[in-house]
Amino acid sequence: MGRERNIILTKKQTYMSEITKCPKCGGEYVYFDGSLYVCPDCAYEFDGENGAAATSDNTPRDSNGAELLDGDSVTVIKDLKVKGSSMVIKRGTKVKSIRLTENPEEVDCKIDGSSIVLKTCFLKK
Ligand SMILES: [Zn+2]
Repeated sequence: MGRERNIILTKKQTYMSEITKCPKCGGEYVYFDGSLYVCPDCAYEFDGENGAAATSDNTPRDSNGAELLDGDSVTVIKDLKVKGSSMVIKRGTKVKSIRLTENPEEVDCKIDGSSIVLKTCFLKK
């Protein structure tokens, strides 16, 4: 799955001359209604250029710029206080099986049985 997404991203430079795909569901039946692209599959409307830019910005990356994928194991590079609790995640903590969220700057994970959202900028693969 992740690989397919990668291929779409590397095609970005020729994006405008190729079939525009829906950034939300990947549908190929997107049409241009004069001001916006519209996806008939999920009714998502988007601006072609912004849509392309958003696609590249939506790749979650660790502190080194490496792409993060569902299920990756990462290491925390900084002591992090967990909001709303006294818990501190120590630098060097290994986190297994991260889950991507809708926000490319955040991933879900479990540490000591607690569900925690981590900023990708404090992680490294
Ligand atoms: Zn769609």
